[in-house]
Amino acid sequence: MPRKMLLLCLVALIALSFSKSPPRPGAEGIRVEGPRAFRRNIERALRLIEEFSPDQFRDVVAAVRFIRLTRSRPGPFVIAYCDRDRRIYIVSEYYAERITQSRVYPFAFYSLPALIVHEATHLQQMLGGRATGSREAELEAIQAERLLRSLLSGSVTLH
Ligand SMILES: [Zn+2]
Repeated sequence: MPRKMLLLCLVALIALSFSKSPPRPGAEGIRVEGPRAFRRNIERALRLIEEFSPDQFRDVVAAVRFIRLTRSRPGPFVIAYCDRDRRIYIVSEYYAERITQSRVYPFAFYSLPALIVHEATHLQQMLGGRATGSREAELEAIQAERLLRSLLSGSVTLH
């Protein structure tokens, strides 16, 4: 098992030990784990993707099995990451920051759906046997984020 995978497994175990609530199915069978408010916000984020970008929503549903809040941060600037078990981890420090900002800047909430689409793109790359660490892979994920943001900006209602 490569060292990176071992690290991800360790991170996954730590993340599990931090999840306070039992997992329950979210949108389309994606399990969301974390405090109730986190689960609610992720479900809203998934609904936004579904409503404004159905094609990307299909990709998210196909690629993602779990979305979890975690205190573990594999690197200093990491705000979210994913592993081969099709889990997306959102770093709690970043999440708290975003949610605080969303009270001041309502559009900051859109960063959560964008984050999900970004990580789902990396999961698709992994599932397709492609590298996720390359510049091209990152650009592809950012491109997916941009597409979603542009579709969301057409929304009149603030969620
Ligand atoms: Zn990325």
